[in-house]
Amino acid sequence: MRVTVVSGGVGGARFLRGLLAALGPGDDVTVIGNTADDIWLFGLKVCPDLDTVMYTLGDGIDEDRGWGRRDESWRAKDELAAYGVQPTWFGLGDRDLATHLVRTQMLQAGYSLSAVTAALSRRWLSTLRPAVRLLPMSDDRVETHIVIDDGQGRRAVHFQEYWVRLRAQVPAHEVVVVGQSEATPAPGVLAAVAGCDVLLVPPSNPVVSVGTVLGIPGVRAAVQSTPAPVIGVSPIIGGAAVRGMADQLLQAIGVEVSSAGVAGWYGARTAGGVLDGWLLDTRDAAGAGAVEAAGIRAKAVPLLMRDLEATTAMAQAALDLAGDVAR
Ligand code: GDP
Ligand code: CA
Repeated sequence: MRVTVVSGGVGGARFLRGLLAALGPGDDVTVIGNTADDIWLFGLKVCPDLDTVMYTLGDGIDEDRGWGRRDESWRAKDELAAYGVQPTWFGLGDRDLATHLVRTQMLQAGYSLSAVTAALSRRWLSTLRPAVRLLPMSDDRVETHIVIDDGQGRRAVHFQEYWVRLRAQVPAHEVVVVGQSEATPAPGVLAAVAGCDVLLVPPSNPVVSVGTVLGIPGVRAAVQSTPAPVIGVSPIIGGAAVRGMADQLLQAIGVEVSSAGVAGWYGARTAGGVLDGWLLDTRDAAGAGAVEAAGIRAKAVPLLMRDLEATTAMAQAALDLAGDVAR
């Protein structure tokens, strides 16, 4: 079975861990990773969501933080701060720095982000079974900016500044994905959507993880026309994002912060949207009727990724629902 997954960082990566456990060793997984969170810092190209997927699946992740390398130290960060170099709010750990150095060196030598990601993945993903291939959504520079109001008038800041420096604590008015409309999908992205047996949308942030991938010209159309069933997993449980800032950003774009609200925003493929099926948490089972009424097959199962067992059951439920809608 060939499964393609559109992924952000922590939510997507944790779901992928369960998916790998639910699949067989001969299956194939292609991950289309969000790169709209990417940022240049201290001359280095940082791709937080790609790295979170690599480190999580390759057993290098810091489990408590959910991002970055395990057993990390921060001596370079302290040295940068001692020079007074900005920004001081984004921590690049010493071990993590090696990834950004390799990536930047290869980009500057003329390799595409796809080629660089494949090279970095060799270390983290090459021994996994099922086999995992990680593709950036695009090789072009695409950056999410959030229009905020921090009391000094409205202005746009990079998504990382909104999330990491401001902790999503200031009002967000608009999400602007700079460079998106001129970007093209990275090599293999459209083929991975068109040629898979199941397409999964994990409980990643709908706005700044999945939405940014779907917004790359050609991707949404490919999702709409793939013969594979498309199944989404709700990132909203009991009317709130489990972690992260999905609540604030859904509000900013005028979408109700509920599982059914997010499903309705993705929309049914039969009605011009991207979904055939949707998993809601059992706590949100009352919303299943509204999802079905929108033309999306709905099923309520526990969706909290508290451990590998629970996450594997979730991924299995998504694969089962794919089988149901394909019938
Ligand atoms: P990020 O790029 O690191 O923010 O990660 P993603 O975009 O892939 O995923 C973030 C989203 O995961 C959050 O907005 C949450 O709504 C969702 N999330 C986190 N933990 C869980 C969980 O245990 N269950 C579910 N259903 N969603 C979760
Ligand atoms: Ca992210």
